[in-house]
Amino acid sequence: MEDQNNIYCTHCGESNKPNLDRCEKCNTPLQQNTKDTLETPILWCVPYKNKKALISYYVGIVALFPVIGLPLAVASIILGRKGTQHAKQFPEKGGKVHAWIGIILGAVSMIYNVPLSILIIKGILSN
Ligand SMILES: [Zn+2]
Repeated sequence: MEDQNNIYCTHCGESNKPNLDRCEKCNTPLQQNTKDTLETPILWCVPYKNKKALISYYVGIVALFPVIGLPLAVASIILGRKGTQHAKQFPEKGGKVHAWIGIILGAVSMIYNVPLSILIIKGILSN
């Protein structure tokens, strides 16, 4: 008898009754569907399991400060790149959005901080 609410074992594919914690056939712990739907939005909001992505996001915000933000912009791009790789490898950890925001903020910071730094250095040298 097949039931629509049955949980399929990720290990052997056996259809198990929803009230079971472990697979009847191979004893693999069964994933409860309700747990997944509860955890996903939290991970999307704050990817605390993907620290590189989270750090990249915050460093990216600080990197928007003129001139002094320039080294931070480089750091947020590098961390953001590692964060997206980590999110690709472990999608359940989340952080893809935060890592990309970190990369974009770092890039925006570099776009105006590089010419600004050159102008300041030129100004200092001409004095
Ligand atoms: Zn099984």
